[in-house]
Amino acid sequence: MLSSTITRSRPTATMAKLAGGMLVAGLATKYTIGVAHAESPAAPPRSQVFGRGPALVSLVLEDAEMVNHNTRRLRFRFQDKEAASGLPLTSALLTYSWPKDSWLPVIRPYTPITTADETGHLDLLVKQYPNGKSSTHLHSLKPGHTLFFVAPLSGHQWQPNSYKHVTLIAGGAGITPIYQLAQGILNNPDDKTAVTVVFGVNSDRDVLFKKEFDEYEQRFPGRFRAVYTVSSPVPGSPHRKGHVNEALLKEVTPAPGPGNMVFVSGPPPMETALVGSRREPGILEKYGYRKEQVYKF
Ligand SMILES: Cc1cc2nc3c(=O)[nH]c(=O)nc-3n(C[C@H](O)[C@H](O)[C@H](O)COP(=O)(O)OP(=O)(O)OC[C@H]3O[C@@H](n4cnc5c(N)ncnc54)[C@H](O)[C@@H]3O)c2cc1C
Repeated sequence: MLSSTITRSRPTATMAKLAGGMLVAGLATKYTIGVAHAESPAAPPRSQVFGRGPALVSLVLEDAEMVNHNTRRLRFRFQDKEAASGLPLTSALLTYSWPKDSWLPVIRPYTPITTADETGHLDLLVKQYPNGKSSTHLHSLKPGHTLFFVAPLSGHQWQPNSYKHVTLIAGGAGITPIYQLAQGILNNPDDKTAVTVVFGVNSDRDVLFKKEFDEYEQRFPGRFRAVYTVSSPVPGSPHRKGHVNEALLKEVTPAPGPGNMVFVSGPPPMETALVGSRREPGILEKYGYRKEQVYKF
């Protein structure tokens, strides 16, 4: 199964496929989901592409587009166009690919930005890093090429109405799980959780999902809000300037207290600044959040 889905051969193909197969099977066993569909308001779709345990599916790229200077949205087609991903909030997918000029395959997780019950396809949003093996490979894929998905990875197992308010803090490409969670909460008519997204980026052109978040603000006034802060904004930028810091959180989010929860997803320096390290407390703890009120993706 595994070997039939790998699109290129290498001199060391047999050994590497074997090693890759063992590695992905190990990772899949370690991280795969105990599926809980508590957040899904809709009737279960006819078939689900990802269930419990390893997935081991190869999906064809249907189309792709650049959404900004370094980020590409890729749509992968399901073989059964009535099927849905079935992934619970919050999940990522472990991918396995073999970049050009690389002697070894790479295994990286990516977070679908389409919902669990969307049929026929799933979308990934991938930022390309300079010399990034997997991200450069994904940016090079053309419609008709395939990507191998090894297994779903579980994040926080969301239960609707567990909190009154959630603050979702994202940095850069870390927006994907934050968007997935915001979307899952707001699209579930039974979930009344209020949501504030705080999105920190380097420059104005790195802001993603502005249109989608604007629509949520229109649909859920007083319940959903997105705040953008840009480290190096252009003159006249509509966004705030600076990093996500305590002053900003105090201004735009409710004070820490029972019923409030924070989710953080960003580059490591941002996560450390917010969540802290062994040596010093982070911004969230200084603000008053207890450890169990903060989830880091
Ligand atoms: C659970 C999870 C979900 C994820 N979901 C997504 C997603 O939806 N979209 C997405 O684009 N990425 C996502 N990522 C990150 C992704 O898995 C890869 O790490 C990323 O694409 C870089 O891989 P690479 O092989 O291209 O880079 P590598 O070859 O591993 O690294 C190349 C260079 O890029 C730098 N680099 C790599 N990652 C980062 C980073 N996060 N921040 C700053 N510099 C970095 C490295 O320092 C290195 O210099 C997710 C990660 C996790 C853990």
